[in-house]
Amino acid sequence: MSTSPAASLRAANDVLAPNDLEAWWLPFTANRSFKRRPRMVARAKDMHYYTPDGRAVLDGVAGLWCCNAGHNRDAIVSAIQAQAAELDYSPAFQFGHAGGFALASRLAAMAPGDLDHVFFCNSGSEAVDTALKVALAYWNVSGQGSRTRLIGRERGYHGVGFGGISVGGIVTNRKHFGTLLAGVDHLPHTYSREHQAFSTGEPEWGAHLADDLERIVTLHDASTVAAVIVEPMAGSTGVLPPPKGYLQRLRQICDRHGILLIFDEVISGFGRLGHAFAAERYGVTPDIITFAKAVNSGTVPMGGILVSSRIHDAFMKGPEQTIELFHGYTYSGHPLACAAALATLDLYRDEDLFARTRRLEPAFGAAMMSLRGLPNVLDIRTLGLVGAIDLASRPDAAGARAFEAMDRAFQEHGLMIRITGETLAVTPPLIISEDQIGELVDKLGRVIRAVA
Ligand code: PMP
Repeated sequence: MSTSPAASLRAANDVLAPNDLEAWWLPFTANRSFKRRPRMVARAKDMHYYTPDGRAVLDGVAGLWCCNAGHNRDAIVSAIQAQAAELDYSPAFQFGHAGGFALASRLAAMAPGDLDHVFFCNSGSEAVDTALKVALAYWNVSGQGSRTRLIGRERGYHGVGFGGISVGGIVTNRKHFGTLLAGVDHLPHTYSREHQAFSTGEPEWGAHLADDLERIVTLHDASTVAAVIVEPMAGSTGVLPPPKGYLQRLRQICDRHGILLIFDEVISGFGRLGHAFAAERYGVTPDIITFAKAVNSGTVPMGGILVSSRIHDAFMKGPEQTIELFHGYTYSGHPLACAAALATLDLYRDEDLFARTRRLEPAFGAAMMSLRGLPNVLDIRTLGLVGAIDLASRPDAAGARAFEAMDRAFQEHGLMIRITGETLAVTPPLIISEDQIGELVDKLGRVIRAVA
């Protein structure tokens, strides 16, 4: 007798024995404590996850900064189902399908400037490696192959590929993995508690930190520098909004020296900061944008880069039967991911979710700031529908208090939040209501008091 997919899913949730937790080595997880006290979800709908025993958990982080349209939206589910029934897979090496072209055109139309061409991959990490490789190859095909140096930033997170951890600036993500890419420099990060504490929006202090790029370029000579990569708002290292004028200054210095500017918009893309891309919010057009996550509201793995016509066209020379770029993935432009993305972009448009985020931003910021003064709260930062709270660490173990807050929020208060070090991050789906913002902040407050 065959069982329905829904029935076997339910069965998997029901029969999990304690030792069934051993085989899956969870990523970026304290596995031993997780397996003593697992945080399990079984279903999701709109603003909520549901545990296997049916408890509702308010999703305060859009999954992992990705489910911007909320969970299990009917239109996206139907689009994925219909696509799976029609064309399950198609290679993108020398073949194409309508959904991929439709999505690329749609993304190009949403992007600023002449970022009119899309190269698809399957994650943010792959998008970053693709962007770095395209930047290096661009200089090669343009006759300036000496431009090989890449510049990232301290406290930058650009995924976990070797390129991404090399330009990234997180010690724990780098120190166990050998010598990384050669020829990489880092700008200073842009956070200062002394000058920026409790700021909503872009802090006033810090634009001058972009000038360090000038120093690095002088040290190495512009003719050796290929590209600079930054997150417009550093997300995973604790939500660090860009100081006012900082990104504009980076753009000016890159222009002065002919250096490519890459914005890693894996988090800031698709409405998180109230616009399709942060580039639009800041009026700064980079040469390449990386995206992933919310492109299809986290439903099917997908990432990609948007590149300027200047970069794209530089590759479109030579004999027509020549492959222009020796790079790509088996699942580049996967039909299911494309169908999910097209349905997601429709939802963002039809529900006006980016403009809605701009309208909610002040109320969200004020609600988060109401937690100022609670025990151990060192700083609160908000931007768009993103917020972060730094908690003082315990003398015995850095991050332990934040870890406990994340665990208690889930187990006792029905709230999913994210921790990075000593920071609690909240990045709810963009469909959150004002009442749910109140509920989220109320739960956060109770958790912070409980771990005091
Ligand atoms: N870049 C940025 C800015 C990110 O925030 C992330 C993921 N949080 C990545 C890249 C990597 O994305 P993925 O986990 O999909 O590889």
